[in-house]
Amino acid sequence: MIPYSKQTIDASDIKEVVKVLRSDFITQGPKVLEFEHKISNFCGAKFAISTNSATSALHVACLSLGLKKGDTVWTSPNSFVASSNCALYCGAKIDFVDIDLATHNLCPIKLEEKLKKIKNKNKLPKLVIVVHMAGLPCDMKKIFRLSKIYNFKIIEDASHALGARYFRDLVGNCRYSDATVFSFHPVKIITTGEGGIITTNNKKFANKCKLIRTHGINKDKNHFLSKDPSPWHYEQIYLGLNYRMSDISAALGISQLRKVEKFIKKRNIIAQKYNELLKDLPMQLPFQNSNYYSSYHLYIISLKVELLKKSHREIFIDLQKKGLGINLHYAPIHLQPYYRKLGFKKGMFPNAENYASRAISIPIYPSLSEKDLKKVINIIKEVIT
Ligand SMILES: *Cc1c(COP(=O)(O)O)cnc(C)c1O
Repeated sequence: MIPYSKQTIDASDIKEVVKVLRSDFITQGPKVLEFEHKISNFCGAKFAISTNSATSALHVACLSLGLKKGDTVWTSPNSFVASSNCALYCGAKIDFVDIDLATHNLCPIKLEEKLKKIKNKNKLPKLVIVVHMAGLPCDMKKIFRLSKIYNFKIIEDASHALGARYFRDLVGNCRYSDATVFSFHPVKIITTGEGGIITTNNKKFANKCKLIRTHGINKDKNHFLSKDPSPWHYEQIYLGLNYRMSDISAALGISQLRKVEKFIKKRNIIAQKYNELLKDLPMQLPFQNSNYYSSYHLYIISLKVELLKKSHREIFIDLQKKGLGINLHYAPIHLQPYYRKLGFKKGMFPNAENYASRAISIPIYPSLSEKDLKKVINIIKEVIT
């Protein structure tokens, strides 16, 4: 089977991990700080706080922004459930803004319309979580402008978008947001096994994230409440969590980060080949614009089902039968059983629903061979014609 994505691990990655295993610290050692430093440098943000997953990173970022019961968060229905679950963990209310059918990202026009419709100021969102779908950045300038008018915070869920660029800006530099979150799950751009990170330019927020990630415990003696601390003293000042990344994971992340540009270049080369080889087939291909550089975490085709003899579901099954490890990113969050119980219904976000009735993620990862790429194309042609 050719999967839709997978990790790229080489001998140098293995060597770096083994080195940590033989060292004194396999967690809470120097590798975590080094990885954080390297990620913040890479993205051009002042601070980075690593976690054991992007889901944890989203949770920590929401708590650190002070999200609580009574607050409202808006996000895209076309994402992994973690993008909206993080609001619910904090007791906040969740709502969605429908997507743009060209980019598959949260639509800034729909966001503005939805904001304008709200007459009661208390119902405005405190936070909007944008998702750079498949590695294509959202239109951050527009969303940032709206955040100033309507006074909401912005978290970028950039789980797909390490190394992507919006105009000149690398995603994660937080020029248009309060924080950015990345995932290092094996299918993503680089991996730490499981892992995530928050980048930000706000020192106070960064310190809060660090505190919450580690049980809410402060070990910095310059900031103790106690006037006469003992040598073993530490202070828990917040109900935090243990969401730490290990040094084993961080060492893998450092080694992987050395190759990030190469990985993304390779993903872009594969995407260009797909663009060329699929352009005459009845499908919409990924959005392209010279101001946006996608990291191509995913390559998604949107079938023009009205022109096809088979349904989306039939095509999906046939592609699977022929050995393609394809996927749907994403079945809309608001139609998950858990979200239906919260009151969301079919028809509420028609673009996300329409998109999900056509979309298929086809294989893209740095080590995809020319031979396998041709095989993917041939299977798609065979199945849809
Ligand atoms: C993968 C992913 C997450 C969750 O990442 P984990 O590191 O697996 O917790 C969150 N949001 C999006 C958009 C993702 O693709």
